Formats: sequence, structure tokens, C-alpha cells
Amino acid sequence: QQADSLLNATQLSKSFGGIKAVNNAHIRVDRGSITGLIGPNGAGKTTLFNLLSNFIRPDSGSILFDNQPIHSLPPHKIAERGFIRTFQVARVLSRLSVLENMLLATPNQTGENFFKVWFQQGKLRSEERANKERAMSILESVGLSAKAYDYAGALSGGQRKLLEMARTLMTNPKLILLDEPAAGVNPTLINQICEHILDWNQQGISFLVIEHNMDVIMSLCDRVWVLAEGTNLAEGTPAEIQNNNEVLEAYLGQ
Ligand code: ATP
Repeated sequence: QQADSLLNATQLSKSFGGIKAVNNAHIRVDRGSITGLIGPNGAGKTTLFNLLSNFIRPDSGSILFDNQPIHSLPPHKIAERGFIRTFQVARVLSRLSVLENMLLATPNQTGENFFKVWFQQGKLRSEERANKERAMSILESVGLSAKAYDYAGALSGGQRKLLEMARTLMTNPKLILLDEPAAGVNPTLINQICEHILDWNQQGISFLVIEHNMDVIMSLCDRVWVLAEGTNLAEGTPAEIQNNNEVLEAYLGQ
């Protein structure tokens, strides 16, 4: 079972002042799975995401991604290893075009070294072209290619989420952390987003998904982890979690 885990975090803790936002929590994402992370408001889900992706440092705990410790790596180095995340409110650059937002996720070779750039101009141009083609083909697959040259700021909230997800694909990820992909998104687009997630999963990408929309969790996830008051409450299949009394009580008590 251990060999199958793509992400394995143990004994993670983080306090803000007197608040133990995450308290000795653990979580595992099996390779090839879509794993859910649920819990009442304030349970510590986003803090746990921030710890896993190293946007904030834990007070204690260990994180293995692909069997390697990643706690000392900055988020962009973690992304290079194939581990990338989205945010509760999509982080796209409004004043750049949709296509430019996609291209932001490709490694920036031009910043490297003037002489290398000088000698490799031809190669760079062909890489640029390849990146652009790849970006357009991903945009096409999510139905955003007609908006490639529009400002990202002109997209709806749901489309921005879709763009942020599409952008993660530019980094060839093995694991994508999605923070509430369905929040504030209209039902038609939620269905489309779910279909894309299932499709990308079929192509070999694993997911860890925070979501309050239980229909989304139930239809997407192989396993679900439940957090309450910063710590693990339950873990199981969606059906097991749905019938778990402790979980129901935690939600009713909020
Ligand atoms: P929601 O479902 O409402 O998004 P959540 O499960 O993602 O909630 P967190 O946002 O991780 O929960 O918050 C967990 C606890 O930590 C809350 O009590 C929150 O107020 C607190 N907290 C989170 N970030 C900070 C911070 N930067 N400074 C102080 N307290 C924080």
C-alpha cells in the first residue's frame, strides 16, 4: 500500500497564534486516485493544502511526494517535480490574455543566460511555438480556445477556475491539488469541470480535491478524508463517509 502512495503526509501541525489550524493531521493520495478532502468550515483544509504545497511551513510533520521528502523545496520546485495546486479564488492574471496565462506555466528559458539564448534562438523559437500549440490544444479541450486572445479578466469566475486548472496541465503534473473547483461555479460548468477532472485522471493524473459540494465529491472521488478541528476524523470510500455518524455530527454541529 505504501508503494502506491503518491503523496503521504504525516503528523502535520500548524498554529496561528493560539489557533491550532492543523493539529497532527495525516493524509495520503494513492497513485492514480481522485482523493477528496472534506470537513466543516474552518476545519483546516486550506491550511493543510498550504502545508502540502509548501506555501506555508509546518510547525512539524513530514511530506513525501513520489517517495521523496519535499518540505525543503519552494512551491515552484515542487511543481517541477509534478505536484501543482489551484486556489479557492482562481489566481489568474486579469490583464494578460488567456493564452498568456497558459504560457506563464512553462519554464522561462529566456531568463537563463544571454549567450545561451543568443546561440539557441532557433531552438527557443521552436520551443515557444511548441508551448503555444500545446497551450492552444489544452484550451481547445476545455472549450476556452475561442477566448485565447481575450483578457483573462473578461472570463466568468467559473471560466477562470477552468483556466487555472488548464494551466496546471502545462507543467505535466502527476498530482493536482484542487481547492474548491466547484465553488461559485454554475451547475453546467460544474458538470464540465467534473468531466475534465475524470478525463485527466484517466490520462494518469492523480488529484486531491477540497470541496463542499458533496455531489461533486461523491461522483469524483475514490477515497475521502475528513478533517474536523484541524485533525483527522475519518477516511474511507464516499459511501462509507456518507454513512459515518461522526462525520454527520461534525457537519451538524458547525
Ligand atoms: P473553509 O471550508 O471555510 O474554507 P478550511 O477547512 O479551509 O475552511 P482553514 O481556512 O484552513 O479551514 O482554517 C482553519 C483555521 O485556521 C480557522 O480557524 C482559521 O480562522 C485559521 N487560520 C487559517 N489561516 C490563518 C492565518 N493566516 N492566520 C490566522 N488564522 C488562520
